[in-house]
Amino acid sequence: MRHVVGRGHEACPAAGQPPLVIFDLDGVIYRGDTVLPYAADAVATLRRRGATVFYLTNNSTRTRESYSRKLTEMGIPTHPNEIMTSAYATALYFLENHLDGTTAYVIGEEGLVDELTRAGVRVLRGDENGPVESVVVGLDREFTYRKLLRAQQAILAGARFIATNGDLTFPVEEGKVIPGGGSLIAAVQAATSKAPLMIGKPESYAVERILQITGASPERTFMVGDRMDTDILAGRRMGLHTVLVLTGVTRAEDVESAPEEMRPEIVLPDLARLPEVVCTAP
Ligand SMILES: [Mg+2]
Repeated sequence: MRHVVGRGHEACPAAGQPPLVIFDLDGVIYRGDTVLPYAADAVATLRRRGATVFYLTNNSTRTRESYSRKLTEMGIPTHPNEIMTSAYATALYFLENHLDGTTAYVIGEEGLVDELTRAGVRVLRGDENGPVESVVVGLDREFTYRKLLRAQQAILAGARFIATNGDLTFPVEEGKVIPGGGSLIAAVQAATSKAPLMIGKPESYAVERILQITGASPERTFMVGDRMDTDILAGRRMGLHTVLVLTGVTRAEDVESAPEEMRPEIVLPDLARLPEVVCTAP
């Protein structure tokens, strides 16, 4: 990607390749439907100074178009091509492995079904019957015993088992947590004694796709997240700069007790100083 820096704005950094900044969404850019302080300003400043911005979420329930609308309405103008979800990454996995044209039984919501369908995968859901080559599991707020049974039977009959993301819970308003896709995946895993191929963070697959799409190098890329076991671990595994913000699920005191491989390079209370941190990094 080429970068054009507006007149009167200092390039970021002053010399060398412009950075890529990958933002997690929930707990970093917004909480629920509320944009977090400094998020819109930080993104605008980074863009103005020539940085490339991308968003990476483990949430598989919505389409990229739906996220771009949500961000744009929050005052952060975003194109669907700047968003990577675990659902889209799963669809890319199918394409890359020439699995388009095959049939998948899907436990998941609109985002996952839509991305797989657009990638040429034939999707079966609910009580739809027929042979399947794969079972794909993500967050499904209409999960039932019958879906679990259908997925289990297919996997035991030899279908591959692919999971969008391992998050057991996710945070919602008022400090509550609700079951995440990982809880449903755990049920399928328990019923089959088979481990899935995991696509979302902390696995590297989605991050690798972003680096490929943008042409950015890992040493000039910043992963900005609120979770150490997904965002920061994924960034560290890929050799990126890692920035933990404390506007989501992690408290400052959690950092000290985290395993070494999950510790961020930089901890910020919020996104106010992020452009400065990114643009002055060595
Ligand atoms: Mg998050």
